[in-house]
Amino acid sequence: MSYIDDVLAKVIEKNPSEPEFHQAVTEVFESIRPMIEANEEFYKREAILERLTEPDRMIKFRVPWVDDKGQVQVNMGMRVEFNNSIGPYKGGLRFHPSVNQGIIKFLGFEQIFKNSLTGLPIGGGKGGSDFDPKGKSDREVMAFCQSFMSELYKYIGADRDVPAGDIGVGGREIGYLFGQYKKLSGNYEGVLTGKGLSYGGSLARTEATGYGAIYIAEELFKDHGIDIAGKTVVVSGAGNVAIYAIEKAQQLGAKAVTCSDSTGWVYDPEGIDVEALKEIKEVNRARLTEYKKYRPNSEYHEGRGVWQIKCDLAVPCATQNELFLEDAKQLAANGCLAVVEGANMPTTIDATKYLQENGVYFIPGKASNAGGVAVSALEMSQNSERLSWTFEEVDSRLQTIMVDIYHNIDNAAKRYDCEGDYVAGANLAGFEKVLNAMLAQGVC
Ligand code: NDP
Repeated sequence: MSYIDDVLAKVIEKNPSEPEFHQAVTEVFESIRPMIEANEEFYKREAILERLTEPDRMIKFRVPWVDDKGQVQVNMGMRVEFNNSIGPYKGGLRFHPSVNQGIIKFLGFEQIFKNSLTGLPIGGGKGGSDFDPKGKSDREVMAFCQSFMSELYKYIGADRDVPAGDIGVGGREIGYLFGQYKKLSGNYEGVLTGKGLSYGGSLARTEATGYGAIYIAEELFKDHGIDIAGKTVVVSGAGNVAIYAIEKAQQLGAKAVTCSDSTGWVYDPEGIDVEALKEIKEVNRARLTEYKKYRPNSEYHEGRGVWQIKCDLAVPCATQNELFLEDAKQLAANGCLAVVEGANMPTTIDATKYLQENGVYFIPGKASNAGGVAVSALEMSQNSERLSWTFEEVDSRLQTIMVDIYHNIDNAAKRYDCEGDYVAGANLAGFEKVLNAMLAQGVC
């Protein structure tokens, strides 16, 4: 058995019941196979793949808190510090009932390569809890966040590990987490990103992931002689990433016609009304059923279904494994030109392969949603400098970073004889930098 297959088998055996982690490792290993097999004995002696797939550490803790009725509730909290070869651990916190060790490890593992692709000095980490902020009062969310940080603060720091938001963790949660960190540590430092503007946040951080996904889609199209203006875009999700992907697509002259949440989806043939969507989701924290009140000509459907709408560009922005093989077939049959992932690993491996083999350009999340973490790193720079940059400056840096990521992954794919395979290009380019740093720093 080859070295790479042997390590993959061991990862699966040693980490049972973690299918998302197995999926992420399998995808990366398939991409870096040519690089590893060209010098197999060396990498095996250095145990590079074993070191890459075993996190530096996993922290798991109890989060007790008291709800509004006086009842004590207990959730699980965790943080995986995966790899800090190129910089302090960096990656979001996810609060969602589905959170478990396998999901946090898949996200932390992906984060290593994503952060490397940004060209900025940040390592890979991720964390979260099975706490569900939906339906909780602000006071309950605060009680939970304070308890969560009472344990997490021991392990994080501006030069050590800098968490941010993810599903279920937005500005409100980051504010409560930051307040508790400051109280416990006594330090006013850039220990979290996605902070409010009045206490060290960066302009354009809220918009960064969604905008970034559309900037990279624009560059992909440009490189293939296609203009994004006038194109129809289908988006899933109705959270932070989805809202700003829709906004940027519309700003560039495209028409985004769908969005979804975990109960249903909206089709608005005239183009999603972004201001209405922001009011429903960001202000009222309500369900998408509300959208019809703003736009009577739109359609609301229960369940899932956005991928059946004819489009030129599909941008999955909700969660992992939300675009399946049958969806890929539908998209390709409808003439979709490209799938650009806004979420982390939203497309299953068989769906990805189908798209690539059937002429649909495919950009994986670790490249296309890297705008969020890139602007988080810019927030860290601003915090260190004790300065705030303008929206235009941050947005222009974001755009440059996304354009550079596109050309970096495109060139890596060309160098390894798999032109047009942006999954391989992203994994190879992301891995190369981490590998060099790991080798330079010795066995540690
Ligand atoms: P939000 O919590 O703001 O929004 C998530 C959206 O996806 C909501 O509309 C939610 O619906 C929907 N959703 C979540 N889980 C499911 C599910 N199991 N089935 C169907 N719909 C679901 O999260 P973000 O927008 O921040 O994150 C979305 C994705 O983007 C995630 O994969 C995240 O890891 C990734 N990402 C986010 C970054 C960021 O900067 N925020 C950076 C890079 C990646 P509902 O409200 O009904 O649950």
